[in-house]
Parts: sequence; structure tokens; C-alpha cells
Amino acid sequence: MAHITGFKEFERELPPKAAPQERVAHNQEFVSTYTDEQLNRQAARCMDCGIPFCHSGCPLGNIIPEFNDAVHQQDWLQAYQILSSTNNFPEFTGRICPAPCESACVLSINREPVAIEEIEKHIIEIAFSKGYVAPSAPLLKSGKTVAVVGSGPAGLAAAAQLAKAGHSVTVFERDDRPGGLLRYGIPDFKLDKWVIDRRIQLLEEDGIEFRCNTEIGKDLPAAELTRTFDAVVLAGGALMARDLPIPGRELSGIHFAMDYLTQHNRRVSELPITNEPILATDRRLIVIGSGDTGSDCVGTANRQQASSVTQFALMHEPSTDRPAHAPWPSYPTVFRTSTSHEEGCHRYWGIHTKAFLGDEQGQLRAVLVTDVTWETDVLGRRIAFTEIEGSEREIPCDMVLLALGFASPQYQGLLEQLGVELDGRGNVHAPNDTYRTSLPNVFVAGDMRRGQSLVVWAISEGREAARQVDIFLTGKTALPSKNAVAMFA
Ligand SMILES: Cc1cc2nc3c(=O)[nH]c(=O)nc-3n(C[C@H](O)[C@H](O)[C@H](O)COP(=O)(O)OP(=O)(O)OC[C@H]3O[C@@H](n4cnc5c(N)ncnc54)[C@H](O)[C@@H]3O)c2cc1C
Ligand code: SF4
Repeated sequence: MAHITGFKEFERELPPKAAPQERVAHNQEFVSTYTDEQLNRQAARCMDCGIPFCHSGCPLGNIIPEFNDAVHQQDWLQAYQILSSTNNFPEFTGRICPAPCESACVLSINREPVAIEEIEKHIIEIAFSKGYVAPSAPLLKSGKTVAVVGSGPAGLAAAAQLAKAGHSVTVFERDDRPGGLLRYGIPDFKLDKWVIDRRIQLLEEDGIEFRCNTEIGKDLPAAELTRTFDAVVLAGGALMARDLPIPGRELSGIHFAMDYLTQHNRRVSELPITNEPILATDRRLIVIGSGDTGSDCVGTANRQQASSVTQFALMHEPSTDRPAHAPWPSYPTVFRTSTSHEEGCHRYWGIHTKAFLGDEQGQLRAVLVTDVTWETDVLGRRIAFTEIEGSEREIPCDMVLLALGFASPQYQGLLEQLGVELDGRGNVHAPNDTYRTSLPNVFVAGDMRRGQSLVVWAISEGREAARQVDIFLTGKTALPSKNAVAMFA
């Protein structure tokens, strides 16, 4: 145990962040690091619980109390070995994970949870600085080949694990650079792109081949992969954006959030942009949608100096405390203020957008909205909303970003050509224990299987799918499963 009375002696503390007015002047990360003493104190807060709920709250099954103890002992090699045994990319999750482990931390029953995510980020950055993070693929190869379609966190995790098992892995990516939503969705101020490049270089040193600018199903027929590779892992994400087909949708000034964010990320990385520029500069912007994507639009628009930034959520405003229907250790829907919200944003809850209104030139000039109330079931889940009479009004704006989530994976091309079975929600069907699609040598992981989710889930799915591929190819596997790790720890 890190420190027997640490949880009583020390309060939760997070590293300092640059002030909002300072950080919106640039696009880089702005969260600082702990001093050695602060890091030691934060690790010391861990109680090494008999049943560490943090561990089961983490989709990767991270072995949290053990790495907290190693950090407290300043045994960086051991901390890194424990962390990397369950997580291929702690440098991603340590920056952008919503940390379900912290919601499950026993300390959070009546105190602030252990700062697990920050500790994780410090372990991996210290490990990089000490040279512990090195290629790890075996020299002896299995002679088997695997194609991975998509280089988001699911595809990268699957590739990393399969290379560790000795297979020859080729990753196909339709974008010009690997990373998926890590690269072209999530902005640099949350995840600097050198962090992705550093990891890709290691994966290449592990022998993984990346073929970018190659869309399977368009540039290369899907059947070519199933024919020429021993196994295929589909990790193409769920990138079909949800639209808002209301009157006025055709007006100029209304864009999908991902088109906007992709352009901004390319601009920051000094990559060419071929389509019409989408900029919020000097615009009165309304972001419709309250998730991570909407929040990233808010932060990006403030960096582009929008004249005002407003965000709409159809759901009612959540409370700041856990609701009764989401008790510890579950991950609750509570009122959250992201770092982007801190930088300036008018937030409206329970607001329904009925129409986009334009001027004579076909340019958006306002949105027509009403306030709504929600009917919920006994578990607090929203069932239906009712418009509040007399609340209809226009809110002036010049630009709207639609951040309403993603409906499904793209069927055209890859999935149509393969003809894989879909589940009831339109994602690629594969059981939880096999990750295998309706085709014998085709597996699936990440958002393409579970629907729009989180980076930590994508990594977890990539690892589990790789394990199943290894069993399929060789009849056995030494790759760990999160279930096996949970039993061992
Ligand atoms: C704006 C935004 C912000 C987010 N912020 C967070 C956050 O802060 N924290 C968090 O945990 N999660 C966040 N998420 C969710 C998270 O990014 C995703 O859940 C995760 O990236 C899914 O990983 P994936 O590998 O399954 O798919 P993706 O990351 O979507 O990667 C799929 C890749 O497959 C490629 N591809 C698709 N089809 C083909 C084909 N036919 N041929 C070749 N390549 C193909 C795509 O180009 C893409 O690069 C965010 C999502 C968005 C959109
Ligand atoms: S639940 Fe919290 S206090 Fe308990 S072992 Fe996990 S991190 Fe430590």
C-alpha cells in the first residue's frame, strides 16, 4: 500500500492549467505536470482497497493500486511495466479519458477520488523520458499475416498486440496519416499530435506497416484483403454523422462538427485543406450537441476568435451530484464543465431546435427554438419531451455546428463489399467473447462494433480482438485478456 493514512492526510490535487485567456491564444496542450512531491502525495492517497473498484471501472482492467504503490515508491520501471501490461497507449488515455476508474474509486464515496488519470499520464511520460518505452515485437515471426482496416485507437491497439504475438501486420488507413479520431477529431489542445507520431514511430519499429491514403472498398477491393491475408480486423470506426433534417437545413453556414474539427486539426498541423474553409472567426456560433464533440467545437471556436459561442443540449441540465439512479461505482451523467467551457460558452439545456432561419441570400441568420421539459422513467432515463408553451423564440447566429453524435459505421464500400452481418443498431455484429464477424477470418473492434464510444473502450476492444485473432491463427495465445488480468490481480 502506497501510504497507510495518505487518503486522510492529502487532498486531491490536479496539476495547474494555463489561464483560459492565455491558452486560447494557441492550439497546444495547456495542462502542466505535478512536482515530484505532488505526484508522490497523490499516489499516496490510494487505499489499496481489498476490492479495488477502480480496476473494474476501467474498461482495460488497469491494475491501478499496484501502479499507485510503485509511483509512491518511485519505482518508475515497475510502474510502467504494470501500466503497459494492460494499456498500449496510456499517453492517450492519460490525457483524454473521462476516467470511469475515478468514478468507481472507493475514495469517491465520500471524498474526491484518487487522481488516477493524471498519475497514469505521469507514469508514461516519465517512462518515455527514461527510455523504458521501446519496440517489443519478437524477432521470431509466426509466418501469419493480418490486415487491420483503420488506424484509430482500436486498430492501433489490435496491430500492437498482433505484432507482439509475432504476426506480420499491415494497417490500411484512408486518411493521409494514422490516428483516426485521435488525429482528425480530437483537437491538439487536448492531445498534441506529436504524442501520436511518437507512438506510430514505435509501432513502425515493431515492424507494423502503415498504408495510408488507402480506402478499403474503394482503392482496394475488400475481397483482396480476405483473400491475401490470413486474418482481417475491421476497425473503421462509426463515422456517419447524425444530421438534423429540419426546415432551413440547406442554408449556408450549417456544418457537421467533424468537417469543422478535421479542417482545424489539419490547419494546426500545417496540412493542406482542399475543401471550402469553415471558420468561426467573428461569427456568432451555435453548437448543437453537448458531448465531447460539441465541447471540442467550443474550444476550437474560441481559438478562432468567434464573436460568441453558444451550446445547446436537448437534455435537461444534469445535477452536479450523482443522481439516485446512478449510484457509486457506476459512471454517472452529471453536470460537467470541460476545459473548453471554462474558456467561454453560453450553455442552454432543455432546448429544442425547430428550424434554421435564413436571409434572402440563403445565409443562416437565426435558429427557431423552444424550451422543453422531459418525462423520465424510474431509472431517470429520458423517455419523451414536451415543448413549453410560449417559449418559442429566435436566437440570432451566423454559423451552426451539428455535434449530434454518430449514427453508424459507413456501409458503402468496405462493409457492403464484405456483406458482414450487422446488429440491431446497425454496427458490425460480433459476439463479446470472439470479436468475430459473420465471415470466418474477419474480426471487428472499436466503434465499428460497439457504436460511438470512448478511446479507452477502443483500445480495450482492439486488444481483445487481437487475442481472438491470435487464437484463430495459432490455436492458442499468450496475449492477456482484461478478464484474465482482473482474475490475476
Ligand atoms: C470530436 C471527438 C472528440 C472525442 N473526444 C473524446 C475524448 O475526449 N475521450 C474519449 O475517450 N473519446 C473521445 N471521442 C471518441 C473516440 O475518439 C472514439 O470512440 C475512438 O476514436 C474510436 O476509435 P476507433 O479506432 O474505433 O475508430 P476511429 O478513431 O474512428 O478510427 C477509425 C479509422 O478507420 C478509418 N477507416 C474507416 N473506413 C476505412 C476504410 N474502408 N479503409 C481504410 N480506413 C478506413 C478512418 O479513416 C479512421 O481513421 C471523441 C470523438 C470525437 C468525434
Ligand atoms: S478504488 Fe481508489 S483508493 Fe481503492 S485501490 Fe482503486 S484507486 Fe486506490
